[in-house]
Amino acid sequence: MTVRVRIAPSPTGNLHIGTARTALFNWLFARHHGGEFILRMEDTDRERSRPEFAENIISGLKWLGLDWDIGPIWQTQRLHRYQEVIAQLLAQGFAYRSYETEEELEAMRAAQEAQKLAPRYNNQHRHLTSEQEAAFQAQGRKPVIRFKIDDEREIVWHDLIRGEMRWRGADLGGDMVIARADGQPLYNFAVVVDDVDMQITHVIRGEDHLANTAKQILIYEALGAPMPAFAHTPLILNSEGRKLSKRDGVTSISEFRQMGYVAPALVNYMALLGWSPPEGKELLTLPEMVPLFSLERVNKAGSKFDWDKLNWINSHYLHQMSPAQLVAELVPFWQEAGYAVEPERDQPWLEQVAALIGPSLVTLKDGVALARFYMTEQVSYDDEATAQLQQPQSQEILRQFLATSDPQRVEEAQALVQTVMQTCGVKKVQVMKTLRAALMGTLQGPDLLQSWLILARRGFVQPRLQAALSLTQA
Ligand code: GLU
Repeated sequence: MTVRVRIAPSPTGNLHIGTARTALFNWLFARHHGGEFILRMEDTDRERSRPEFAENIISGLKWLGLDWDIGPIWQTQRLHRYQEVIAQLLAQGFAYRSYETEEELEAMRAAQEAQKLAPRYNNQHRHLTSEQEAAFQAQGRKPVIRFKIDDEREIVWHDLIRGEMRWRGADLGGDMVIARADGQPLYNFAVVVDDVDMQITHVIRGEDHLANTAKQILIYEALGAPMPAFAHTPLILNSEGRKLSKRDGVTSISEFRQMGYVAPALVNYMALLGWSPPEGKELLTLPEMVPLFSLERVNKAGSKFDWDKLNWINSHYLHQMSPAQLVAELVPFWQEAGYAVEPERDQPWLEQVAALIGPSLVTLKDGVALARFYMTEQVSYDDEATAQLQQPQSQEILRQFLATSDPQRVEEAQALVQTVMQTCGVKKVQVMKTLRAALMGTLQGPDLLQSWLILARRGFVQPRLQAALSLTQA
């Protein structure tokens, strides 16, 4: 039996980290078993589905490296198939037409609420006679299709993560609507038709779908279809232990990307949200995870989202990148910040910048602030730098540097500092502080000699020394 799994997002929002993590587990499961991974867009909700959300989901999965073997398959392309199955369920007596108006259903809910009962449909149209149906139709009522749920049933399945699961039919809210009056099929129904038609062997999805699984099992039975195995993954929780939601700020993959997290770090981090790799090795790439992944090592308990851990993992991947890789990742951030960088023209120079700031990066976004020293001809001078430039020897030190040509290599830079020390008769620390103040506009920051070489290559050393000179006092 070939393993076949799927991710079935609804394009009603951007790719959420919860969906991405579910996609990752499905992908790992498929790759581990040499199976197939399907992308299915559950886009039957016409009011809430949007092409830009579908685009965001597709590009997010691609960016993460979670490639699919089949799809995207769009549910809206399969509407005829759902109609066919509805006709079958009606003919076999598993489903029926239900004619209540919105007001009648609201009144039913209100009456239940008044009696402190959980809201449920009371199955009152389950046994309408053909005369009653004709009368409703004559009134112009359009029926929804309901699937019968036996209150007495106990639904039991062995969940591959949670073990034995039991649900009472009576807790499922009464006979469920599977298609709206306009024919639009609803999730619990369409998902089963699709999973059956696509021969899905394992349904791996979030724990928030447990009650849906109980309902869906009843539909599999009515269709006489083979049942897949089910595995419900733990939820991702916020710091208060509640399900991570939009209110917690960043939740979509595109937002993490904009913040400067890189794909290998995000997939690594997401895998740890619920899965414990064997031997406690936490830093793992996708190919490294494939042979190790199993549902047995997915926890039942919810996983708390932990920014410190994500940052640690992101730093790890950034620090492993070559300067060329870093440049490729940083250029969009630099361009967005308005820095005039052109990789075709500046590649070796950009790599020098990346090599210097790389070890300090936690996110790519940090690269914007760290690279700011090199990106414009002039810098602004902060108070400390200005005070340093106003020291008695500063003017002479700067004149000496202005009189020599810019260093090309670090040894030349060191030798120049020595010469200026001797010529001006000052300590090294004075020379270095003055040079730093002049070139960087501040007394803290990245390695000075390397920065000097980087600025020299760009032709920014002389203009900055001139600008600094004008701040000195004779
Ligand atoms: N469209 C559903 C969702 O996004 C799919 C759930 C499932 O995997 O069955 O939650």
